[in-house]
Amino acid sequence: MTRKIFRDKFIADGKCANCGSREPIKRNLYCGLCMLKDREKGRKWYKKNKEKKKKYALNEYYIRMETNRCIGCGTPLHPEADAGRVSCINCREGLYATNY
Ligand SMILES: [Zn+2]
Ligand SMILES: [Zn+2]
Repeated sequence: MTRKIFRDKFIADGKCANCGSREPIKRNLYCGLCMLKDREKGRKWYKKNKEKKKKYALNEYYIRMETNRCIGCGTPLHPEADAGRVSCINCREGLYATNY
């Protein structure tokens, strides 16, 4: 038997779809304990991914600065018009939405 069949059987029996031994919470497939574990897992995953994303954004930021490109949209900066700037005219004037 696969886990999926187990799961369907648990649901059909009106039991928690994960452990199959406790009653699920109203309008949910999981019991309280499994819901709690699931939520904990979700939070950890979210935290891990957020840090990864942050690192990536920072990397991108430095790469753009070093290659003389706009830190907002990544287009090459104009040697005169954008001299001493880190973002292009479009980003500076707010034509593109940026976080910088
Ligand atoms: Zn359960
Ligand atoms: Zn730009």
